[in-house]
Amino acid sequence: LLDATLNRIEAARNLNAVVSLNEGASEQAGQIHRRLAAGEHLPLAGVPILVKDNISVAGTRTSCGSKILASYVSPYTATAVARLQAAGAVIVGKANMDEFAMGSSTESSAYGPTLNPWDTGRVPGGSSGGSAAAVAAGLTPVALGSDTGGSVRQPASLCGVYGLKPTYGRISRYGLVAYASSLDQIGPFAHTAEDLALLMNVLAGQDPLDATSLDAPPAFAPGTPEDLRGLRVGVVKESLAGNTAGVDATLQTTLDALRGAGATIAEVSLPELKYAIAAYYLIAMPEASSNLARYDGMVYGARVAGSDVTEAMTLTREQGFGPEVQRRIMIGTYALSSGYYDAYYSKAMKVRRLIANRFAEAFGQFDVLVTPTSPFPAFRRGEKTSDPLAMYAADVDTVAINLAGLPALSVPAGFETVNGVTLPVGIQFIAPALQDERLVRLAGGLE
Ligand code: GLN
Repeated sequence: LLDATLNRIEAARNLNAVVSLNEGASEQAGQIHRRLAAGEHLPLAGVPILVKDNISVAGTRTSCGSKILASYVSPYTATAVARLQAAGAVIVGKANMDEFAMGSSTESSAYGPTLNPWDTGRVPGGSSGGSAAAVAAGLTPVALGSDTGGSVRQPASLCGVYGLKPTYGRISRYGLVAYASSLDQIGPFAHTAEDLALLMNVLAGQDPLDATSLDAPPAFAPGTPEDLRGLRVGVVKESLAGNTAGVDATLQTTLDALRGAGATIAEVSLPELKYAIAAYYLIAMPEASSNLARYDGMVYGARVAGSDVTEAMTLTREQGFGPEVQRRIMIGTYALSSGYYDAYYSKAMKVRRLIANRFAEAFGQFDVLVTPTSPFPAFRRGEKTSDPLAMYAADVDTVAINLAGLPALSVPAGFETVNGVTLPVGIQFIAPALQDERLVRLAGGLE
């Protein structure tokens, strides 16, 4: 299985979904044979998995899609990865990503863009585009990404696979390189609800190494159509404008399927969502500016020599970080600075609270909420690279969920034909905090 996987990865090199291979994979596969022979029960025995290149695997490079970490080898393993390995999975390599998970297209990687397997002239979404493209192209059956504002769900939608962003704290962040710590969460990509359940039952759980991880033992199982009967589904009104025709049609087909299975559908308005993008970027960028201060050329990765320490740090950061990362560090620092903190960061935190409250209120009436995952299917490579605001707007349906810490799942639900090319379309379901299981049950019911 490992050889077949490596052959597939080699054959799909043009996609640039994989940035490095795990040299320890074949030894790990051997260990799994021995553990099985010894009678151990391994729920993921031999399953080949790719993980996004901001998740640490001891002895392998963790570049975060950045030049500044081109030579950085992780000395330890992320808890999520350790859990997969304990369950018998084999980490075959690392997946491409936007630099430091900042982006929605995987075009800001220092290692070149990842291509969408459905149409290589288009982006796979981002920032976990390598993981999404790899699963869509069948390189591995499942993969891990991280989702700070949509980076698992949006590429899942654009590549036609499932992508789950769990409740904040459901999966340990230990060993996930921080972008915006109060929003970051690791999440799985898969082709079926059953695979999602298998993975989540291994990944979720409290971790003494992550103080924000939650004590909520996982009980995931794919549901059946029976589980949809009586489900109260709220369609978020604010997500209904500005979508392409194929996205609108896919939402309607999905609602019809739910209705047909006995769910009740009603519209719900969450007016504060119009501030979600602004609040998200005013929180994510300040957190990023602080988290990325550690790349000063002294401890991690690359160092460019200078005549004194200040010059060495300046040159290292100037040459090591790409333009999007530099832009965010500058805006984040600005929003945190004295005189501007109250106007920007502190106001964004208040909006964050209002959004979370509004979601909580909606969940008094609904079991799940539904929106498109993205207003459009995969866009052309280069289409948004010169317009950062257009790129940020691609996250309009996903960022609010991270602000509120909620779980959400992008379900591959339909297609849109653009210039004769078939592109996948995803629909996003949102559940109350800690009801991640409900999303996987629902997904099974819709299959
Ligand atoms: N595209 C969003 C951003 O650039 C989300 C990224 C993510 O979830 N990591 O911040």
